Amino acid sequence: MKRREELTFLERIYIVEIARGVALTFGRLLRNFLFHVLHALGLAKNVRAAASIQYPNERRPYPSRYRGRHRLTLHEDGSVKCTSCFLCATACPAKCIYIQAAEHDDPSIEKFPHRYEIDTLLCIYCGYCVEACPVDAIRMDTGLHPEVYPSDPRRFIEDKEVLMLRSKELQEKGAAQVYQEHMRKMQQVEVHPRSSL
Ligand code: SF4
Ligand code: SF4
Repeated sequence: MKRREELTFLERIYIVEIARGVALTFGRLLRNFLFHVLHALGLAKNVRAAASIQYPNERRPYPSRYRGRHRLTLHEDGSVKCTSCFLCATACPAKCIYIQAAEHDDPSIEKFPHRYEIDTLLCIYCGYCVEACPVDAIRMDTGLHPEVYPSDPRRFIEDKEVLMLRSKELQEKGAAQVYQEHMRKMQQVEVHPRSSL
């Protein structure tokens, strides 16, 4: 164990340490200010001015296994893959998945989710539901952030239709365009917080 060293005389009178702290803080401030000015002038583009990311105008590169908003995957005919086995709901530590199973008209399909809902306010984005699913019916590979402030709080609960639509959009538009549209909505909400997402 490293013992706490005795303070020196200069440390004990604090003034020198306070001056050092102030010099460090203002040094960083001036450095960042200088880089921001250079960035605004189109210079020093490869140097970051500050550690903060100017979200939603700037995007941090996500790791390939980033866990974004959920989606329910689809069969080729557009029907939901989920078989209502409840394994995801059982594995979910936040108990935020609600499933109501129903019998399918097609006798070759045992069950399907009549209702499938995720309460995203409770979800901790752990990915256990994805791991638990035996038929790859739920994924978190959308690359989209959780919704932060929807105009209607009921939208925090994502139902089967929303989760299926996300898969359809991803298939039709591609991940890059879906992400661009998502960012545009986020930017709009930043400017007009009461606008609907
Ligand atoms: S990510 Fe985790 S907390 Fe969220 S629904 Fe899936 S299992 Fe539950
Ligand atoms: S999403 Fe997967 S684990 Fe969850 S109920 Fe459907 S089939 Fe089962």
